[in-house]
Amino acid sequence: MIQQIDHLGIAVRNLDASVEYYENALGLHCHGREEVASQKVKTAFFSVGEVHLELLEPTAEDSPIAKFLEKNGEGIHHVAFKVDSVSDQLKQAADAGVRLIHEVPFEGAANKWVAFLHPKSTQGVLTEFCQERS
Ligand code: ZN
Repeated sequence: MIQQIDHLGIAVRNLDASVEYYENALGLHCHGREEVASQKVKTAFFSVGEVHLELLEPTAEDSPIAKFLEKNGEGIHHVAFKVDSVSDQLKQAADAGVRLIHEVPFEGAANKWVAFLHPKSTQGVLTEFCQERS
């Protein structure tokens, strides 16, 4: 079951400059930075109430974020829903005919299990399911 929007993923070219913008211009506090080697990204996190912002800078040219930036420029990259079970949510989506990017959850940033639905099946919104790893 979907509980709430967990975070918005935002693709940026320069993580340091972006963190500075969110801190100085918006007054938010960056509460974590992390590199996710499997996705070839560096991330920085902000909290806005219960929703987070996840800034994503590519660490390699073949990173999915590098490809996104090349095609679309900077901006909102994905919407992440907090769910009880990523596996159950993937199954429900697959049963409804949605194309999956990941058949099984993998370890994402911020100590979570994550998986993505293909934007061709979701009206253009790259959709992530995430679940706390216990
Ligand atoms: Zn995310």
